[in-house]
Amino acid sequence: MGKRTHATLDYYNTPPAMCLRCGHLCDAATLVGKGGSPCPGDVTVCIACAHVMAFDKRLRLRDLTAAEIKEVKQDDKVTAVRCGILLKIATDPHWGGEKKRGRAQ
Ligand SMILES: [Zn+2]
Repeated sequence: MGKRTHATLDYYNTPPAMCLRCGHLCDAATLVGKGGSPCPGDVTVCIACAHVMAFDKRLRLRDLTAAEIKEVKQDDKVTAVRCGILLKIATDPHWGGEKKRGRAQ
């Protein structure tokens, strides 16, 4: 997992995996609120649709457990990231999410 920098954000390549909700290819992660590379159990948010998932032990994407869902709902950082992505989806017609694929709910 190589560390790369884009603008002012550090991000890491992750094993290519599809978002469990929209099918967007997720192959990198930007770290929020902690240092180091992504670890198993870390929460991640799909950049295309704001779906919240976690990395499994091989850094592939998995659904959250019931306990993790409860925890994530109280995490301001996750909420802030989700809000930013949802705002982008709502205001940018070129954003690569469900709307672009005609799968809006
Ligand atoms: Zn997605």
